[in-house]
Amino acid sequence: MTHSPLDEVRTRYAAERARRVRDDRDAQYGYLDDAPDPWNEPVERAPLTDVVDVAVVGAGLSGLTTAATLKKEGVERVRLIDRAGDVGGTWYWNRYPAAQCDVESYVYLPLLDEMGYVPTEKYAYQGEILAYLQSVARRFDLYRDACFHTGVEDAAWDEAEQLWVVETDRGDRFRAHFLVLSGGFLQRPKLPAIPGLSEFQGTMFHSSRWDYAYTGGGPGRDGGGLPGLRDKRVGVIGTGASGLQIVTPLAKAAEHLVVFQRTPSTVLPRNNRPTDPEWASSLRPGWHRERVEFFEQWTNGRFDQPDVIADGWTEVYAPVAVRHGAGLAGGPQEQEQAELADLAAMDRVRQRIAETVRDPDTAAALMPYYPMLCKRVGFHDDYLDAFNRPNVTLVDTRGAGVEKVTANAVIAEGREYELDLLILATGFDTVRGYLRSWGFDVVGRAGLRLSEHWRDGMRTMHGVTVRHFPNLFLVAALTQNAITVNYGAHAGVMAEHISYVVGEARSRGHAVVEASEQAEAAWVDMVASTASERQTEFLRSCTPGYYNNEGNLESRTRQGSARLGGGSVAYHEILRGWRSAGTLSGLDCS
Ligand code: NDP
Repeated sequence: MTHSPLDEVRTRYAAERARRVRDDRDAQYGYLDDAPDPWNEPVERAPLTDVVDVAVVGAGLSGLTTAATLKKEGVERVRLIDRAGDVGGTWYWNRYPAAQCDVESYVYLPLLDEMGYVPTEKYAYQGEILAYLQSVARRFDLYRDACFHTGVEDAAWDEAEQLWVVETDRGDRFRAHFLVLSGGFLQRPKLPAIPGLSEFQGTMFHSSRWDYAYTGGGPGRDGGGLPGLRDKRVGVIGTGASGLQIVTPLAKAAEHLVVFQRTPSTVLPRNNRPTDPEWASSLRPGWHRERVEFFEQWTNGRFDQPDVIADGWTEVYAPVAVRHGAGLAGGPQEQEQAELADLAAMDRVRQRIAETVRDPDTAAALMPYYPMLCKRVGFHDDYLDAFNRPNVTLVDTRGAGVEKVTANAVIAEGREYELDLLILATGFDTVRGYLRSWGFDVVGRAGLRLSEHWRDGMRTMHGVTVRHFPNLFLVAALTQNAITVNYGAHAGVMAEHISYVVGEARSRGHAVVEASEQAEAAWVDMVASTASERQTEFLRSCTPGYYNNEGNLESRTRQGSARLGGGSVAYHEILRGWRSAGTLSGLDCS
């Protein structure tokens, strides 16, 4: 029998996975459902009882883009509602030092053409992103009707009035002709259920609720130097995309930094650079749409033109994804070639670690052993180098995670690490499903709850509209649609689609549009029939993480949050084709 170079790595990957699979799966986490807002005080206001054209629940990237596009198309009263104190979603909450977009800003940020704005850097930092999103809200006059620090508690369809009635925790009871649910995907902070965590007497916060009063400094690329940490022992639990970005400023600021790692991330070079003013001034109307579409084409494996974007994702991820896709679609030979390509890419990732990190044991501990697409890839130019500093300790828990927390220390690998500050970069809820995460259950026709309609799995048409829930639109990540790593593109496509349907309904004099029984059933079938068994197999074999529901794919399938097979470009083509037919087919209109 011939020996394949894959034999050894397959064994290693399987062993690494095996030590991370846990019986408690999502029970290993708790959720910060009512975390206070560190950035803004709620403003007193009278309860709202008016009628608006569209209520948009969630003022992050997707809700804001949808609301702005609706306004652009002439819809007069659009109300953004959010628990946060402003627009921005992720970029409102996550103000940890050096928070930065991991997708090129020129394709990630919405409406750049309309706004006449070009980000100042290829990978913008949080401050610039939030300021830009606020400027979008101002430009489209969205603050006028917005309500912030407001949680929706109930949204019910009023059959007699043919309106949505929205009730909130601020005593509002307003009505809306259309309802958009854009409550976000990675929004509720997730905490590890580590024994003793709540007994920690030092300062502790989640990465998305940074306490600058304690650390000193402020949001920005180095966190303003975090002067409050000069004499502090700081611990970070979590080395995902947030942990990666936080470590560098903390390493520079803290007296001592201890990084508790459960699974190493794949860390690729960042190569950020300022925007070339000549390039910016050469951009012609339409540039943004073209660039966004180009990114989608590339990350879907359609390489007809040279890579003009040269983003970390298009340079590294796309070719791997394509080979991976070829392996998923092809026979055993293609599958083996795909695995070999992935192995070569991961070997380069491990090589970079070996070349950067001086201590060989620390370098070995930082090396990821799983296929590249098992977890979201990270990008950073200084993360690895931080472990060369004498004041930084890596505690590799080899998949086990932190054991215990005491009043003044974290215990891991049998050792006690005394700390003044503990930062939890442990991610966000992805497993409880949208309904739990939104915090309310929409009530459609005849008192039907969305949770009841979706009891045996999600049901939508196009991933956007739902039978029995008239004039309701979803803008979410995993609702039987297809997205790439660029959520900005998804938000833009959804905004355009929803604005089209709302615009057509209004101009054709329809008070109600609703997915027909047949159209919804056909879409559910399409999602099921295009879902790749091999993709499911691949994710099942992956190291646990939020991509595979902490190694519990079956329950995700039950939630029905499957993606449409064929990728985002095919999905966008379906939506575009449907719109250009101009018949609103599959929608019952009255
Ligand atoms: P993740 O869920 O990606 O990472 C959580 C981290 O916490 C993992 O390293 C996890 O380890 C670790 N962890 C969880 N429980 C324990 C425990 N008990 N002991 C030790 N470690 C533990 O969350 P992030 O906030 O980093 O990122 C979430 C997503 O948000 C990203 O994937 C990305 O989509 C987005 N994001 C984007 C950014 C950008 O654009 N720049 C920046 C930040 C986030 P393990 O891997 O073993 O589960």
